[in-house]
Amino acid sequence: MSICCAYAKKEVKDMKGKIGIGAFLAVLLILSTTAAGLDNTVTVHFTAGDETVTLQLEKVSEDQKVVTVKFTDTDMALFQYYFAIAKVVEFADFSVTDIRSGYYVVNMGKKGLTQNGIDYIMELPPSVLKKTIDTSPISSYQGKELLEVHVYAKDKYLRTFVAITGVDIAGVDLKKGYLTVLVSYEDLLTLYLSGFTVEVVSDLTGGVGTLQLESEYYTYPEVVTELSQIQTDHPSIAKKISLGTSYEGRDIPGIKLSDNVGTEESEPEVFICALHHARECATVNVAMYIINYLTTNYGTDPYVTGLVDNREIYIIPVVNPDGKVYDDSGGSSGSGLMWRKNRQPCSGGIGTDLNRNYSYMWGGSGSSGTCTNDIFRGYSPFDAPETAAVRDFFNAHPDINVLLTYHSYGALVLWPWGYTYDPIADANDRQVHEIMGNQYNSYVNYTAQQASDLYITSGTTDDWSYGITQNDSMPCFSFTVELSGGEFYPPPSVLPTMCANNCEGALYFIDCADNPYKVLGGTPYVTITNPSDAQTVSGTVLVTTETSGVDTVEFYIDSVLKYTDNTAPYEYSWDTTQYADGSHTITAKGYASGTFKAQDEVTCTVSNVSAYVTITNPLNGQTVSGTVLITTNTAGVDTVKFYIDGKLKYTDTTAPYEYSWNTKRNKNGNHTILVKGYVGSVFKDDDQITVNVQNNASIALLSLLVLFIPAAIYKRR
Ligand SMILES: [Zn+2]
Repeated sequence: MSICCAYAKKEVKDMKGKIGIGAFLAVLLILSTTAAGLDNTVTVHFTAGDETVTLQLEKVSEDQKVVTVKFTDTDMALFQYYFAIAKVVEFADFSVTDIRSGYYVVNMGKKGLTQNGIDYIMELPPSVLKKTIDTSPISSYQGKELLEVHVYAKDKYLRTFVAITGVDIAGVDLKKGYLTVLVSYEDLLTLYLSGFTVEVVSDLTGGVGTLQLESEYYTYPEVVTELSQIQTDHPSIAKKISLGTSYEGRDIPGIKLSDNVGTEESEPEVFICALHHARECATVNVAMYIINYLTTNYGTDPYVTGLVDNREIYIIPVVNPDGKVYDDSGGSSGSGLMWRKNRQPCSGGIGTDLNRNYSYMWGGSGSSGTCTNDIFRGYSPFDAPETAAVRDFFNAHPDINVLLTYHSYGALVLWPWGYTYDPIADANDRQVHEIMGNQYNSYVNYTAQQASDLYITSGTTDDWSYGITQNDSMPCFSFTVELSGGEFYPPPSVLPTMCANNCEGALYFIDCADNPYKVLGGTPYVTITNPSDAQTVSGTVLVTTETSGVDTVEFYIDSVLKYTDNTAPYEYSWDTTQYADGSHTITAKGYASGTFKAQDEVTCTVSNVSAYVTITNPLNGQTVSGTVLITTNTAGVDTVKFYIDGKLKYTDTTAPYEYSWNTKRNKNGNHTILVKGYVGSVFKDDDQITVNVQNNASIALLSLLVLFIPAAIYKRR
């Protein structure tokens, strides 16, 4: 029991607070008292060997097979005081299904439970009792200060149990199922007594001198010098900036890349940073590679040129200069190598974990309130000057639509949330993160997933940058990329491929920054597919569209809204007979969630009157003489040709279409009048009549008859 108590005490302290055993037993008593009598509580007696732990647990649900309960942090601390959680999960019908701020959700299978009145008894195998665990297999590591250890944990819940012990998790191999942690013997024993399978890989105590930084890796002064040189070499697109000052007074340097680099333009912005954690030296190389790639290919590579011209790209290669300088100072003595945090003193030690110090959901699981711990979150959000500098810069640049922060060496592409297993609530935002993260991963071949699928963390950069902007119309889509390499100081031979692949991913993110939502369906568009531009239409026309990324289409005729369609396919049945013949414009405007996205416009000619030509004068069969005005009634034609007896006599292109026919040039008798109507040169309609021409000769004859018949009559008298 003595070993058990010693480590259980430490464990309880590390769980999520600093409650001593006595204090939490008192708390438990209060909880038990207040919980008694509530019908949503259940009393469970956990027994193993000669130990029994009785807990009053809030019941979440119950069915025929499973009772689901909540363990408060205090319940879980007491439970783990006696029982090795990883063994309980392995050997009993007991599974942790969620970990929240303040409590754990646990499923207890009923086949492992015995009912005793209103109480349950869960009998656990004696092997889960901490006091029965034989620690001799790891006793040879007693006194060691820094051990590299693989801890096997099969799922995100057990990995979170590892994380909340506060150990320094350096890497993860999801395929092999272990976390790589850097621990003292005491931490190793904590994990071992929690029932985890552990494997000591190497003893780094006092022996890390062999890990001296190689010359291919940047030092802090080299970064400062090179950024200045890049500005000198590319003054039109590169401008050195300062994010702020570190705890020890060093500049946190960065670079802005854009055309008109000296001007704040209203272009979409991207924020890329590296080295929150001092020892993650490869991240600096990746950041510097991206800067050099963009500047040296500007003007020759059209893709790079377009990105630089149309974005404002901010890259911060060393967020933690003090930690970097300290880590590099280790050299062969090894004193500084493997340093993670900044160099700000805290109570009893040095250093805040900058990637646990951001404000959003600060203080939750996966961070520590203990200064000496490697995941010490600070005493309050942004109490580290380095994270405060990131915050101030971010707040001053509201157009930052994409944030990318580099770490190493888990070989992961991660997105929010880290503080909860819940996915991002907004379906579009979640999908954009998934699509962008997976696309980035296609260049690097790591593992792409939500951060908490690894284990719970809180106060991280990407939870914060997305969290505080998630309700904006354009949130900041935020990612953590853990480089590969298998260690903090991988052989420099891995750098060329690592840098080139991650640069491709970064360029893709920079590309997305104008509107990350475009990854949901490309750029939204609306195209009118019928009628086509300049087409002649009549009657009722179905205006059809092809669309993407819109949920509503408005149809306008001559700028007047005629119809709104909320259901795909987006169409409008246009009655053109309500419009005068001639030119009209159709406009289709697409919207997504009420925001205008795209439009298309076509102009077409309405022609509803059917073309015809009718001769209105003279009438068919009429007798005519002298000059006759042939008149017509027409529609839908612009040219009328007049024929007499099949011969073209006149072409009229101006309404009214008429021909003045001098019949005296024709013999008396029947003649045909034919008119043909055209649009341009296209024949449309014709009309034909026959008239009887009777001119002077006949009239003269008639006159003679008039004159002479009376005379003849007269003669006969
Ligand atoms: Zn890191």
